[in-house]
Amino acid sequence: MKISDCKHYPKNPAKPNADKCEGGDPDPELRVCLTCGHVGCCDSNIFQHAKNHAKETGHAVMAYYPTDEFSPIWCYEHNDYLES
Ligand SMILES: [Zn+2]
Ligand SMILES: [Zn+2]
Ligand SMILES: [Zn+2]
Repeated sequence: MKISDCKHYPKNPAKPNADKCEGGDPDPELRVCLTCGHVGCCDSNIFQHAKNHAKETGHAVMAYYPTDEFSPIWCYEHNDYLES
């Protein structure tokens, strides 16, 4: 879906707070919360800190991290990738 159709996407996307999972476990697959900058591990990690963060805070939109220009953005509320 289009980013513009996702009401969860923040107007001013946050910069990452950290360069590894804030839950403390080492995992190469990270997601950054674009609402507050929280860095958590992805759903394939058993801890699923990014998903837990979305559940606890209502911050739905996460980007792959480290980001590059092809970095997919995911909305946990819409369960869909966001494309510009
Ligand atoms: Zn959404
Ligand atoms: Zn957040
Ligand atoms: Zn984690």
